[in-house]
Amino acid sequence: MRILGYGRLSRDAEESTSIERQREAIEAWALANGHTMVEFVPDVDVSGSIHPEERRELGPWLTDPLKADSYDAIVAYRLDRVSRRLFHTVDMLKWADAHGKTLVSVTEGFDLSTPLGRMFFAIIAVIAEGELEAIRSRARDSFQQLQKVGRWRGGSVPYGYRAVRNPNGDGYVLEPDPETSTIVQEIFTRVAKGEPRLAVAADLTKRGLVTPQGKKGWTGPSIKVMVTRKAALGQIESKQDGLLVLLRDEHGLPLQRADPIVTTELWKQANEAVRDAARPLKRARQTAPLLRLVYCAKCDEPLYRFSNGHSKDFFYRCSGKTVRYNACTSTPVPAEGLHRYVEDLFLDEVGDAPRRERVFVPGEDNTERMTELREAIRALTERQTNAGPVQAEIIQETITSHETEYAALATVGIRKARYEYRETGETWTAWWKRTTWDERRTVLLNAGISVKVLLERPNRFQPGAWTVNLDLPTSLRESLERL
Ligand SMILES: [Zn+2]
Repeated sequence: MRILGYGRLSRDAEESTSIERQREAIEAWALANGHTMVEFVPDVDVSGSIHPEERRELGPWLTDPLKADSYDAIVAYRLDRVSRRLFHTVDMLKWADAHGKTLVSVTEGFDLSTPLGRMFFAIIAVIAEGELEAIRSRARDSFQQLQKVGRWRGGSVPYGYRAVRNPNGDGYVLEPDPETSTIVQEIFTRVAKGEPRLAVAADLTKRGLVTPQGKKGWTGPSIKVMVTRKAALGQIESKQDGLLVLLRDEHGLPLQRADPIVTTELWKQANEAVRDAARPLKRARQTAPLLRLVYCAKCDEPLYRFSNGHSKDFFYRCSGKTVRYNACTSTPVPAEGLHRYVEDLFLDEVGDAPRRERVFVPGEDNTERMTELREAIRALTERQTNAGPVQAEIIQETITSHETEYAALATVGIRKARYEYRETGETWTAWWKRTTWDERRTVLLNAGISVKVLLERPNRFQPGAWTVNLDLPTSLRESLERL
């Protein structure tokens, strides 16, 4: 590579590196790397704040095409010899890019032909601008933070990992343990496939594997803890105010303390499986669709959800059954059949009627804006009296526009917030078809509907029979419209 050596010394005693030393360093670097120095260009008594193109000596080597063609790289002792101004440095970078040149700093050791070199260049350019100390302390802080949490600090090693000597420095770091990491992978995989945690735990115990706590028996909860924590991803959670918090770096990304044992995909699948397994419990606690809507026709007590535990279907059972003074003997009503009955009765009654919807219309109060306008008009009128004819005319235009707005607001006045009824264009049947029992239940309750039901037990004289009475408010349609 043909290089152009460049040296600069400013008038002030800011630097102690003489032109001669700069030259020697560049020559030594060229020799060591097998490059030929075409010329050494020294700018003496020239400040680093002057644009490189405007420098007495360097300028022509950048602007004269013939001269610019005679070398491939500009080599300086330090980047701040080329420029101390960030924007000028960026200019130089652009210029070098456009002309296929490279910039080299001998002491900072960067080379623009590599991406890393470009990054260094950008950083050093900022430093040359005078932010050296700020940059240094910022870098130091984040480095220490990473060191502190990224390195294993002793204490218990997360299951699946082992502590080894840090190959790049002091202390120890964590790496996946060849034996236990495969157990972690197995656990995640089996949980992700939907295998009950208890079954996984029992199997691990049977195989005589030692638990993360160094004990013999694995448990379902310990499996859950392992699967829901982020340790197997090589990340760190720490307890803060009783909550587990994932530690993040300055970019908001999780801090990576070690290589992950499981992929993020597998981690997610296993955690979804854990959540799914918890769901049936929630379903059992759900309210029945007709709760507080259905009553026993025999004793008027409300019916409650009741499940015999053998099938997924449930029943509505009279609460009088459990109340000692009543001890109602009515038969539990199968939920599915009752739901169908209620649906039929309701839709027979109002199915074809159009459904209207109550909408909230917020109020409007322009008092404040009107006061504002009135004050503006008063101020402008005062200004008008001292103004020349042209100025007065311009002010008048503004006043007129304010007057117009004021008049418009005055006609609106103050409107209170209220409800309006809006046609939805659908019938109650259409609404019923697209809604869930949760929504239907709310509407039926608000409309004041109640259902009285009795199921006659079949005997040898007659088959079982339903008595279902939909108790509708006097004017159901009106009630529904008032919802
Ligand atoms: Zn009853």
